[in-house]
Amino acid sequence: MIYFIGAGPGAKDLITVRGAQVLGTVDCIIYAGSLVNAELLEYAKASCEIYDSASMTLEEVVEAMCKTEALGLDTARLHTGDPSLYGAIQEQIDILREKGIAFQIIPGVSAFSAAAAALEAEYTLPGISQSLILTRTAGRTPVPEKEGISAFASHQTSMALFLSAGMLDKLSEELLEGGYPPETPAAIVYKASWPDEKAVRTTLAGLAAEGRANNIGSTAMVLVGAFLDSDYQRSKLYDPSFSHGFRQGTGQAADAQGTGQAADAQGTGQAADAQGDVASSAT
Ligand code: SAH
Repeated sequence: MIYFIGAGPGAKDLITVRGAQVLGTVDCIIYAGSLVNAELLEYAKASCEIYDSASMTLEEVVEAMCKTEALGLDTARLHTGDPSLYGAIQEQIDILREKGIAFQIIPGVSAFSAAAAALEAEYTLPGISQSLILTRTAGRTPVPEKEGISAFASHQTSMALFLSAGMLDKLSEELLEGGYPPETPAAIVYKASWPDEKAVRTTLAGLAAEGRANNIGSTAMVLVGAFLDSDYQRSKLYDPSFSHGFRQGTGQAADAQGTGQAADAQGTGQAADAQGDVASSAT
């Protein structure tokens, strides 16, 4: 069995319980040494064979997996953050499927979550932004034309950018071009959850200069949007007057957003909606 495991953003205890347990049982670990904290290898049993994939090709990675598999043993492929984001797992999965080798994926805490935690921020503030764009600037890996930074910037919602800290001049230019005002709050979070984590708050206009001043060029998330510094409206979900499947509200006013939803809150339509909120916040 091959386990693709999200290592989390860096701190040894930000891997999931399941991920750590599996790391303790496998016979081989292939980890992305350029970004994964080597302390996570302390979860491995003493006899575990360890490869750093930083200097390996896809073929070499698969060869190591197959060698372990042929002995009837298990491999963990340890990727930084959550493997579904810029993890290059699909190409490994396709080869494993072709070879008939079983695999499982164990998700992880992504860097975008760790960066928000470092800044004590919430991406989705009522009345400010209810969406988060996860993206990157084009580097050696091209980005589809329709996904250009300036196209996304036109939404002026919350944005979290991976793999872009080395191109802050180009990035801020494109964000401004797309429509964010220069005074839009922005932040750079370097090595979120590591001992040398650094979180810098600035504006879009100051982004590139702050990156230079703090000597940040890689292993950083760039966050942009009014969520970083805004007057927002409190949530419907925890508003005393708002009813939902798990709580009867007072049913008064509550139309803080002026949307006319308060009246609905006593009826059925809104309750169903609120249950959705409750369900999603409970998971
Ligand atoms: N799968 C990973 C992302 C891999 S791409 C995830 O879900 O987090 C690598 C990029 O992730 C880096 O260039 C950087 O932008 C970001 N990154 C990874 N770990 C980070 C950390 N601890 N702090 C800030 N950014 C990080």
